Amino acid sequence: MKDCVIVGGGLIGMLSAYELVQAGRRVKLLERGQTGQEASWAGGGILSPLYPWRYPDAVSELASWGQARYQALAEALCEQSGIDPEWQQSGLLMLDTEEQAEAAAWAERYQVPLETLDSAAIQQCEPVVDGHHSTALWMPAVAQIRNPRLLAALRRTLELRGVVFEEQQEVHAVQHQGGRITGVKTSQGEIPADHVVIASGAWSRQLLNDPRYLTAVEPVRGQMLLYKGAPGLLNTIVMSEGHYAIPRKDGHILVGSTMEYVGFDKSTTPSAASALRQIAEQLVPALGDVEIVRHWAGLRPGSVEGVPYIGEHPEISGLYINTGHFRNGVVLGLASARLLGDLILRRASPFDQSLYAIER
Ligand SMILES: Cc1cc2nc3c(=O)[nH]c(=O)nc-3n(C[C@H](O)[C@H](O)[C@H](O)COP(=O)(O)OP(=O)(O)OC[C@H]3O[C@@H](n4cnc5c(N)ncnc54)[C@H](O)[C@@H]3O)c2cc1C
Repeated sequence: MKDCVIVGGGLIGMLSAYELVQAGRRVKLLERGQTGQEASWAGGGILSPLYPWRYPDAVSELASWGQARYQALAEALCEQSGIDPEWQQSGLLMLDTEEQAEAAAWAERYQVPLETLDSAAIQQCEPVVDGHHSTALWMPAVAQIRNPRLLAALRRTLELRGVVFEEQQEVHAVQHQGGRITGVKTSQGEIPADHVVIASGAWSRQLLNDPRYLTAVEPVRGQMLLYKGAPGLLNTIVMSEGHYAIPRKDGHILVGSTMEYVGFDKSTTPSAASALRQIAEQLVPALGDVEIVRHWAGLRPGSVEGVPYIGEHPEISGLYINTGHFRNGVVLGLASARLLGDLILRRASPFDQSLYAIER
């Protein structure tokens, strides 16, 4: 058996590990800090791109493949780990409707249920939204997952399956000879490997350290507020003008998010808190009386039009990349891991790899 080393213990690294270990590979995962504490923890867990018709087919293809399989993944992980990632089909209610025609054409093409609601239907669908909206778009099949729980369930399952985790293990460089990967150099020494996967999120470009590739992979800060609502206060994901409120089963409601190009700075700001508070109350006026219990920020790995980089390095065989998932790493992660596995294992793939090539 051959050894695969994955660099980065976020969702993309762990889903990649899951794919490879299921195919019988021995996998070691190296994480600079603790697994699952960066963008993958900070995200909202909506299992759909926002305004999905705005994205290229390369994104829609990965999203729809993953959407069809996420519930089964959540059930399998729950059974194996004892941790429920709380997949639920909450539906997505979009209160902006200027792009109805584009949305309808896209929905028909991808066979996704999408309806236009009038104000009475909006109130019936989600009684707590602001009553001023005369129309809305409703995507009843959109699901969500509680991403911190998904990460914990994956971590436990991977350990049970024999994946070796090394935390506090920062990779400084990849090592190669004669056009072939030989391993990685870490803070604690060298680790040999036949296959190396860079799944280091917003930090991937620094690690690859080649000015020709991953130029669009830069950190894009997103801030989020957490409200401690009562269960049932809000039941659907509601969004308007790119912002959203996501109800969890236990009543918590996440409101997000900002899009800020401020480098590797994860601090939260009072101005974002007040902007998000305003957005929350516009979406769901009742949130004005609900306590905010947490405010955080995460760094998304940017990319051009949200299309991730998934592929083998053109000059270093055995070195693979899986990164640049931008705003959609949770929904795209499952299919991305499948494509990565197809490439490493030389299997036929349901995806056109050229759309995701790192040299594109
Ligand atoms: C506020 C916010 C809301 C979001 N909402 C959604 C959503 O609703 N739906 C959705 O699909 N997506 C959402 N996303 C996007 C999604 O969270 C990301 O695309 C995804 O988490 C990226 O995963 P990742 O594993 O690539 O990165 P990360 O989770 O950041 O993981 C990368 C890991 O690599 C490690 N690492 C980096 N460099 C090294 C090194 N040299 N050596 C070892 N380890 C290293 C890091 O410590 C980190 O743990 C959201 C993101 C944010 C910030």
